[in-house]
Amino acid sequence: MKNKLSLRDVWQANKRIRNIVAKTPLLYSEPLSKHTGRHIYLKLENYQPTGAFKLRGAANKILSLTPEEQSKGVATFSTGNHGIAVAYVAEQLGIKATVCISNRVPNEKVNRLMRLGANVEKVGENQDDAEAFCYELEESQGLTVIKPFDDIQVIAGQGTIGLEILRELPEVDQLIIPLSGGGLLSGIAFTLKTMMPDIHIQGISMENSAVMHESLKRGVPVSMKESDTLADSLLGGLGPSNEHTFQLTGQYLDESLLVSEETIKKGILFMMEHHKMIIEGAAAAGIGKVLHKSEEAGENIVIVVSGNNVDHDTIRQLL
Ligand SMILES: *Cc1c(COP(=O)(O)O)cnc(C)c1O
Repeated sequence: MKNKLSLRDVWQANKRIRNIVAKTPLLYSEPLSKHTGRHIYLKLENYQPTGAFKLRGAANKILSLTPEEQSKGVATFSTGNHGIAVAYVAEQLGIKATVCISNRVPNEKVNRLMRLGANVEKVGENQDDAEAFCYELEESQGLTVIKPFDDIQVIAGQGTIGLEILRELPEVDQLIIPLSGGGLLSGIAFTLKTMMPDIHIQGISMENSAVMHESLKRGVPVSMKESDTLADSLLGGLGPSNEHTFQLTGQYLDESLLVSEETIKKGILFMMEHHKMIIEGAAAAGIGKVLHKSEEAGENIVIVVSGNNVDHDTIRQLL
């Protein structure tokens, strides 16, 4: 098994996923640039067909499986953007996707997965039960579990965002990237830093349960209690035996910052008001950060707008 990420993996991903994944726009944000006195660009992953960047990694991983593996089907235990991405890719390719969830997952989420043709298995009372069941299916039925971030092909898929940015904006100085498991950040940062070592990479997490931030500080993956946050897509641990993203994030990140719920909220509202876009909390964290306090490392800054999976009630409450 090959387990070291190379630039070739990212270029191969770029070729492999092109029929399923959108090349997203890089939007120059006049209002954010005015506000900060820098040139701020938004990489709009909310414009993926599934509404989030996770499609890139899931597509690359599933497309790199052998025909035999594909015919047995894939499985995941995520109900969020990753689960949606896996279900979507499987539907596009005509293969079977199983999503294992706990009995607590709300019906709205279950329905969305079923509409994408996924087979939904309800087990247990929490996420750990669902995950354990998913690995049982791998044993008993030969399904391939598609991990949300800690996988070389998934990381390479997210890295294709870096290729698209470089092509459009070679003068980029700094990236602002939401950070949870670190697949998104390590993919983009590896890709860009390998070609332009002096680019500045900033990771953004929410103050409540910033697992990667805390793990990097202590030098080992830690687990933390989850608390409510607008950036719910950034919740979750690094996995019991993280193989790649903890090390890669530590190696390629220059700065890890935390933002408050209030700052995330400002980011969401700013995007609605000035760009007429609804984005989710995780995606708004970086926008909130530059609005709140802009001390940036360079002139040309790209903020990765990672997704738009937010429910109506949340938006109504913010308004
Ligand atoms: C998953 C996700 C992230 C974080 O990505 P990681 O690879 O886990 O760091 C950020 N934003 C959105 C919308 C996501 O779905």
